[in-house]
Amino acid sequence: MSKKFSTEDILAQVRPTPMFVSQLSADKKIEIIAGHFQGIMETLGLDLKNDSLKESPKRIARMYVNEIFSGLNPEFFPKMTVIENEMQYDQMVLVQDINVLSVCEHHFQTIHGLATVAYIPNKKVVGLSKINRVVQFFSRRPQVQERLTKQIADCLQYVLETEHVGVHINAKHYCVIARGVQDAHSSTSTSDLRGHFKTKHETRIEFLKHCRTKGLD
Ligand SMILES: [Zn+2]
Repeated sequence: MSKKFSTEDILAQVRPTPMFVSQLSADKKIEIIAGHFQGIMETLGLDLKNDSLKESPKRIARMYVNEIFSGLNPEFFPKMTVIENEMQYDQMVLVQDINVLSVCEHHFQTIHGLATVAYIPNKKVVGLSKINRVVQFFSRRPQVQERLTKQIADCLQYVLETEHVGVHINAKHYCVIARGVQDAHSSTSTSDLRGHFKTKHETRIEFLKHCRTKGLD
């Protein structure tokens, strides 16, 4: 028997991003953001009559709404159908090196990294690509890496009805690379280990040995 969760139920269980769900249509959001971005560009002194620049405000607005901040819109949340764990699989299920492309909410610069996500099933299992899609959805918001890590864990723990969940992210922050200390080599690791992943030494070690901390380039 499969169980389908409503997006509303799931998102209510996930620690919140400071946001409200906008009632504006996508087209209206794009129009407003394009106007604001035009103001930024003109304030910087750019000539928006130039052929290369004139479409940029609209292009950036579409990218914000439809791509890099699509995780602010619940309509983009993946359909989460879980199925009965009929084979009574009781070992770790682990998805390694999931691409993480997010945006730092302090500087609106790219965060690029890899996530490793695992769980030990109880009565439910989920299609593996759904795990990638959950990572992708919460990445497509202005984020801090610590919150992103926890949102993924909250979501999977609720949907899979298991306390045993592990999430690890290693990522480079372009606000550290392109500005401020301008360090191109450092990366940041965060993890949220729950249930056996936190308390059972062997489970913790088995999980962490799959987590990438180097080799992003
Ligand atoms: Zn930043």
